[in-house]
Amino acid sequence: MAIKSGKEYVESLRKLKPRVFAFGERVENVVDYPLFQPHINAAAMTYELANDPQYEKEMTATSNLTGEKINRFTHVHQSIDDLVNKVQMMRMLGQKTATCFQRCVGLDGLNAVYITTFEIDKKHGTDYHERFRKYLGYVQKNDLMLAGAMSDPKGDRSLRPNQQADPDLYLHVVEKRDKGIVVRGAKAHITGTVNAHEIIAMPTRAMGAEDKDYAVCVAVPVDAEGVTLIFGRQTNDTRRLDGEIDPGNAKYGIVGGEALIVFDNVFVPNERVFMCGEFDFTGQLVETFAGFHRSNYGGCKVGLADVVTGAAYWMAENNGVEKAPYIRDLLAEMASMAETCWCCSLACSYQGSKTPSGAYTINPLLANVVKLNITRFAYEWMRLAQDIAGGLIITMPSEKDLRNPEIGKYIEKYLVGKAGTPTEHRMRMLRLIENMAVGAGLPEALHGAGSPQAQKMMIQRRGNFEAKKELAESIVGIKPDKHFKKITGKSEDEYFKEFREPSPKCK
Ligand code: SF4
Repeated sequence: MAIKSGKEYVESLRKLKPRVFAFGERVENVVDYPLFQPHINAAAMTYELANDPQYEKEMTATSNLTGEKINRFTHVHQSIDDLVNKVQMMRMLGQKTATCFQRCVGLDGLNAVYITTFEIDKKHGTDYHERFRKYLGYVQKNDLMLAGAMSDPKGDRSLRPNQQADPDLYLHVVEKRDKGIVVRGAKAHITGTVNAHEIIAMPTRAMGAEDKDYAVCVAVPVDAEGVTLIFGRQTNDTRRLDGEIDPGNAKYGIVGGEALIVFDNVFVPNERVFMCGEFDFTGQLVETFAGFHRSNYGGCKVGLADVVTGAAYWMAENNGVEKAPYIRDLLAEMASMAETCWCCSLACSYQGSKTPSGAYTINPLLANVVKLNITRFAYEWMRLAQDIAGGLIITMPSEKDLRNPEIGKYIEKYLVGKAGTPTEHRMRMLRLIENMAVGAGLPEALHGAGSPQAQKMMIQRRGNFEAKKELAESIVGIKPDKHFKKITGKSEDEYFKEFREPSPKCK
């Protein structure tokens, strides 16, 4: 089976037995647990649309391993077109789910590890890349969802991994055996883990020789022995138990469903180990992964912006103010910011390049600009959505009040907008805006794929300020300007001397 349907994906989760905890209890049945269902539905969309001929170009790709058609979420990018189709896929999925559909983190992990293992082998004579290609074939054949796990808990941020009071605050190798390694530690706030098939764990930062044991990259099944998943809380999460209006997006939820992954002496067979001690490649792996994931944000978050802009427009119409100049101005602002981020995502894809492994990667400078813009603009377009929606997004009575036979008629009567539209529709739209513009989605846009300072560090590193300084020096005449000389036929000194010495005509 190469491409699963949404339903087949959900059913495939039933075969797994991960050790999951949420709200202080063990969750034995992930699929039927009501607080997980919206996340599972959102991830299922990444499967379902791959079966819809309308979305074939975005959702499917040709495997470089087998030549078969596969879900793009298991693909290693082979061209600029692949990079562009990927962000188009993400914008479209954002539009269809209005939330995080989670599967991109594993996709980015696959691509980053593919590229980096090739280079590790070239330098160190290891066989990680071949192992990884076999693993990739397994992922593609079974159309698996991977949780990409990069962030370690980190403890005291001023200390390196080996200097921490507790050595487990970064994932590390605790034992080497003939057939594999044993790892211990944790990965924090990892998207989509409880409903993934596999976890691909990568180092979280550049490391030195003293952190050798922490330079480890492995793939493990989500239900491997020793792995425990502790689900994170989100705004409005228990509203899912209250009905279908109050959650805001009852079908697909809010953000990705993050978990703390604990690795308590997990044995990983050699064929699933893709880095073990090669600290000199940790920085490259982190940067490659982060670049891919940051480039995505101008896709998925812009899809979300499309939905919330549509919801704000709906509210304006329902309030009878859609033609008011200030509303049109706010809507234009929202669309303009979203399309700016989209331009960045397209640009970093079109400016991508081929790596020595043959796989393609995005332009890393532009990818970081994408994400940095999202950390600002997502707050701004959500603020404008709140502005248009009005205060009802936070003062409206509950769905249970609407359904109450005694008072529901008052809500129906007094919270109505334009005549002819049921109050319930208005409440649904307001709750959607509340869910998207007030909830966990905002800090997710800020910190997901790395916090703003992480992008600024990359931008500083790749901003090429020396070259920019030389541009300025050339303009002001500190450095030579060979083209100016060709245009004028003389050196700058000769050219300006003529200005200083008045021509005979002026005398
Ligand atoms: Fe994908 Fe966006 Fe969610 Fe990241 S935040 S996993 S890019 S949908």
